[in-house]
Amino acid sequence: MAEETIFSKIIRKEIPSEMLYQDDLVTVFRDINPVAPTHVLIVPNKLIPTVDDIEPEDELTMGRMLVVAKKIAREEGISDDGYRLIINCKEHGNQEVPHIHMHLVGGRPLGFMLKREPT
Ligand code: 5GP
Repeated sequence: MAEETIFSKIIRKEIPSEMLYQDDLVTVFRDINPVAPTHVLIVPNKLIPTVDDIEPEDELTMGRMLVVAKKIAREEGISDDGYRLIINCKEHGNQEVPHIHMHLVGGRPLGFMLKREPT
């Protein structure tokens, strides 16, 4: 059994967050340390630690994350200019919180996806 993170407590509203949306499968709240004018996290209610732990039965939840990302982006007023969706995975992906979350980032030009470094 995976260890719960702070995100489970946010989802259950046991600790405060600026929550924008919640349904039976996903929860959306603003990142506590935003990197852009809009920076929200789209999180499955079920504790799935990393993308590497996704099971076939999670397909609906993963799809819901994208559908909700589109809706929130529109509500944030960033859809026409565009935005970026990011899911970090494990150590090389620099994932800090082991509960899958999709970052929705926008509201300014975001530049290249990754800094170019020698491969
Ligand atoms: P990761 O590096 O795992 O992809 O991203 C984790 C994100 O969660 C970071 O952007 C960080 O600012 C955010 N975060 C960590 N703890 C909290 C918290 O307690 N509340 C909120 N709203 N965001 C958090």
